[in-house]
Amino acid sequence: MTEQNQHQTLLRQLPGISTLLETMASDVASWGHAEVTRALRDHLAALRQHILAGDRPDMAAGDIRAAVLQTLNRRASASLIRVFNLSGIVLHSNLGRANLSPDAVAAVADVASGASNLEFDLATGKRGDRESHIEAMICELTGAEAATAVNNNAAAVLLALNSLAMGRKVLVSRGELVEIGGSFRIPDIMARAGCSLIEVGTTNRTHRTDYEAGGDDAALIMKVHTSNYRIEGFTTCPAESELAQVASNRGIPFMIDLGSGNLIDFRSLGLPHEPTVADAISNGADLVTFSGDKLLGGPQAGLVAGRAELIAQLKANPLKRALRMDKMTLAALAETLKLYRHPEGLQKALPTLRLIMRDEHEIHTLAESLRPAFEAALGATYRVAIETTLSQIGSGSLPIETLPSSAITLRPLSGDDRDLRLLGDALRRLPRPVLGRMHQGALWLDLRCLEQGEVSQLIAQLSELAL
Ligand SMILES: *Cc1c(COP(=O)(O)O)cnc(C)c1O
Repeated sequence: MTEQNQHQTLLRQLPGISTLLETMASDVASWGHAEVTRALRDHLAALRQHILAGDRPDMAAGDIRAAVLQTLNRRASASLIRVFNLSGIVLHSNLGRANLSPDAVAAVADVASGASNLEFDLATGKRGDRESHIEAMICELTGAEAATAVNNNAAAVLLALNSLAMGRKVLVSRGELVEIGGSFRIPDIMARAGCSLIEVGTTNRTHRTDYEAGGDDAALIMKVHTSNYRIEGFTTCPAESELAQVASNRGIPFMIDLGSGNLIDFRSLGLPHEPTVADAISNGADLVTFSGDKLLGGPQAGLVAGRAELIAQLKANPLKRALRMDKMTLAALAETLKLYRHPEGLQKALPTLRLIMRDEHEIHTLAESLRPAFEAALGATYRVAIETTLSQIGSGSLPIETLPSSAITLRPLSGDDRDLRLLGDALRRLPRPVLGRMHQGALWLDLRCLEQGEVSQLIAQLSELAL
């Protein structure tokens, strides 16, 4: 028999789709006809390729069913899943930033599963405003006259610039033309908002007079909090209150993009100073924009607080409708803001603050309790140790401040980087992936963000580690 004839014989032996679908009736009932048919077609096509390539693949109905069920299960597993953030960065932008409090999570689930009074005023029975659920609280916590919120802080900045200065000039210091990770760049957002950026001052020094003299007929002075870097040395920039005065003398608004929406005095908690939204308002900012999922500890959102007349302009902008928040985010934000009404309880109730404030001795004790499980799971080819390390807050908050912490470090005794990578791969393939940081020939698992209630899950899945 020629090779071609052999292929033809094998191809003819392949079961047909309809026969296979009949034998898989129960699978069709649980997965749906279209999904099973699609997986079967794909698998049969792959088998044909193998045959034509000279292979003799398993093609009994049972083998085909097993392979197809594997595909169906793989397709059904979620893509977006929980992970263990042992990176040492509390607010990690790639890992979803702030963890929501249980109250916020419950509120999301509640409004997501049924109808709600999202835009319905229960008192009057008339149409309501979706921001009524948060606006008063933002004002209460920041001292602002009015507030609004959109999808994220990038959107808040875009909306504010477009509402207040479309087709006009905006003054920004050359020391503040920042890029935030993920392509948020001040010059670009300015262009998209339809504003012309007028740079004033220099990279390291910008004076009050630069703002007074720069760009006649400018519509806005904007200050950007340099959240992810710091310029040190021979530097100067006017105080916020001075800029507010310059803007007021020029008859234009003064806006601050604060980035991280810090609502509490960090120093009173023994943490490094981070300006608050209330500081910015009391320093005379007419508008302040900030994120919901950075230090504020809530869902992804962009909040704007400030003068009522300006907030009204933002709300009237057609872009506002395109950038508006959805009900789940609003529910989470409202519950998160509520926690701030009880500042003494905040450290316990707000996960972001709890993780930032976590005591280094507690983290060390946690590392000691976990070490035997890692030693048992990794065997003799890795050295498991506990080392002190420095965590970061992340998301551009207090970029050069660090928090003393402890890590479990895993080192291949071979000293081979390939073994280290294999270990990293295996930890990422666990049911709930474990994400650490490669550093100096070891995988560092900073335990700052491992909550006590998650320890048993972490230990239990280590037995599945496939090295
Ligand atoms: C983080 C940040 C932004 C972007 O905020 P998102 O909520 O990520 O859109 C803008 N400006 C500054 C100064 C920031 O720190």
